Amino acid sequence: MKIAVAGAGGFIGGHLVKRLIEEGHRVSAYDIKPLSEWHQIHTGATNYPSVDIGRPTGYVFHDIDEVYNLAADMGGMGFIGNNKAMCMLSVLASTNALVEADRSGVGRYFYSSSACVYAADHQLDTEAKPLKESDAYPAEPEDGYGWEKLFSERMCNHFYEDFGLETRVARYHNIYGPNGTWSGGREKAPAALCRKIAIAKLTRKHEIEIWGDGEQTRTFTYIDDCIDGTTLLTRSDVHQPLNIGSSELISVNDLAYLIASIAGIDVRLTHVPGIQGVRGRSSDNTLIHTLLDWEPSTSLTDGLALTYAWVYDQVKESL
Ligand code: NAD
Repeated sequence: MKIAVAGAGGFIGGHLVKRLIEEGHRVSAYDIKPLSEWHQIHTGATNYPSVDIGRPTGYVFHDIDEVYNLAADMGGMGFIGNNKAMCMLSVLASTNALVEADRSGVGRYFYSSSACVYAADHQLDTEAKPLKESDAYPAEPEDGYGWEKLFSERMCNHFYEDFGLETRVARYHNIYGPNGTWSGGREKAPAALCRKIAIAKLTRKHEIEIWGDGEQTRTFTYIDDCIDGTTLLTRSDVHQPLNIGSSELISVNDLAYLIASIAGIDVRLTHVPGIQGVRGRSSDNTLIHTLLDWEPSTSLTDGLALTYAWVYDQVKESL
């Protein structure tokens, strides 16, 4: 197939392009960033850096069978909590990509939504019940980032209903792995903790800062599972949004201890003020299991071992 990936210079986009090339497809990779800032550059794809998918071009998806739209201005809790307007401006990319995909007559269109669409009152305690897809309504998503995702999900649905565009929507839950952002303010908890623990190991200063009390719980999904689920969903006939998320719940404190044990060091956690997000969030995988006979299978220990090893190398090189 001829496949276009928007946001291809990002973390998930880089892994997706790699997989699609391995599957034998012809891939066009787009990102607003210059090539020097892409997480991965695959020479087997045709790479289009510095292209804003939020601006009409009339040609980006011409003659394309599948579009994967991963383009968004986003980051971890610290970034999305402090940059709500910037996160909402991703609606330009979400909207224009849909319009161009529809006008170009693409076969299938995938949109990457997020667990941040879920209503806050389902996530009030650390033992919160796993989130079912129906828990997104009545709507009370994460302010800024979550509202943009929920709106864009609905637009995908209406482009299918009104124009017949074959849209697919995944709600990703905390994707992590190598070749992503690990410093600079947009990194998420697994990469940030891997970095802090790698620094602790290299400098022998074993004190780690954690935002809040660290009792907040999450599930973390390894990148290979994310890519498996994304392509499976896109090629299925499922039109409703589906969770793509692990159900292995862990607190942020225990996540830090797990990474430290992988690194082979003991750490002392210091709790400091910082944005924590919801109190507890986990993925209910009943629907994806029923519809696609699949759910993520990589254990947190295995995924973190691969992630820590990669982050450790980056930290070592940068010191
Ligand atoms: P990322 O920030 O690494 O990648 C996003 C990429 O989109 C970046 O390279 C960015 O430059 C590009 N981009 C932004 N605006 C663009 C535009 N107008 N035109 C072209 N490119 C543009 O993020 P990621 O972790 O790879 O996430 C990919 C998608 O998955 C995003 O939509 C994100 O909201 C969603 N998501 C990710 C997670 C996660 O845990 N990583 C969780 C939920 C949802």
